[in-house]
Amino acid sequence: MTVGIVGAGQLGRMLALAGYPLGQDVLFLDRSADTPGARVAPTLCGEFTDRRLLRELARRSEVITFDWENVSVESLAALGRGTRIAPPLAALAASQDRLSEKRLFDRLRIPTTRYAAVDSRAALLRAIRRIGLPGVLKTRRMGYDGKGQAVLRRLDDVDAALAALHGQPAIYEEFVPFDCEVSVIGARSRRGEFAIYPLNGNEHRDGILRVTRSPFGTAALQRRAAGHLRRVLEHFDYAGVLNIEFFVRRGRLVANETAPRVHNSGHWTIEGAETSQFENHLRAILDLPLGSTAPRGHSAMVNLIGTLPPREALLSIPGVHLHDYGKTPRAGRKLGHCTVVAGSAAGRERLLRRLLKVVGD
Ligand code: AMP
Repeated sequence: MTVGIVGAGQLGRMLALAGYPLGQDVLFLDRSADTPGARVAPTLCGEFTDRRLLRELARRSEVITFDWENVSVESLAALGRGTRIAPPLAALAASQDRLSEKRLFDRLRIPTTRYAAVDSRAALLRAIRRIGLPGVLKTRRMGYDGKGQAVLRRLDDVDAALAALHGQPAIYEEFVPFDCEVSVIGARSRRGEFAIYPLNGNEHRDGILRVTRSPFGTAALQRRAAGHLRRVLEHFDYAGVLNIEFFVRRGRLVANETAPRVHNSGHWTIEGAETSQFENHLRAILDLPLGSTAPRGHSAMVNLIGTLPPREALLSIPGVHLHDYGKTPRAGRKLGHCTVVAGSAAGRERLLRRLLKVVGD
């Protein structure tokens, strides 16, 4: 019984760690042998598009999944009908292109930012006339953690923003002066069971997630976000975990993006929920019953970015859980995270303040 995972980053590693208590083995495919995942499970080393290695992964696994949304859909599709892949490739393809992502939100009546496709200077000027300034120009593909995007405040910003695209197809979207950012994470199994977690409140810095709190927001906001998530899961006849990120503006949800995988804003579920997002992803793709998503208290997760504070200092805070991904430090790189869980929101905030002091915030 092996799950094949394309990509052996920290998400893959946490999937593998969630699999062991269930008696579930994992086999990775990644470009490097020096990855967070390769430290905990065997790894086939080569390109994500290497047909021979993908076939070997398929032969040795009962189901194939991925920990990164930019793996090649074409290479996975070439494995043919005999290979079970979850989540479905249609969901993977939609999330790889910001334009198809927006069209998906429109089709499923999920409110999103106003947007226009941009493939030339003239198209950008037309988009600005229609949508207005300020706005955000984003590459359609391979953008994550705020990479490949520029905020346009004046018409004078057009040329610099276009130059930064290096001719890549893009979308222009309205700038949302949001009150806060939230995400919703949930699983659907092939038998049609749903398991949706409490809403996450997310703080970003420089486009990278810094802090998540959960549960977050009103019951009405949670209900609406969960409804949107269910529509996406049903649309794809989905198996696995999926995430949607939203801006919140005057109590309304505006969808920003979706990822067909476990998500950084759900790391708190390892200690803070009855069943973690990683375990529920495995249960969902293996046709096992899904686990409860009930929170065990009020959780906060802090990403450790660029440098790792001394372990002693982090662990001296009562109740702190440290996850060190074993990566080489580099500016802007996610090296690990810490989670605290408390009996009340006020207690969570007290622990979070101590944690942020050690992390250097
Ligand atoms: P993304 O790569 O689309 O997730 O963007 C990264 C972060 O940039 C988001 O979490 C927001 O904080 C910010 N951002 C992206 N798009 C917009 C927008 N249209 N309006 C305001 N802020 C945005």
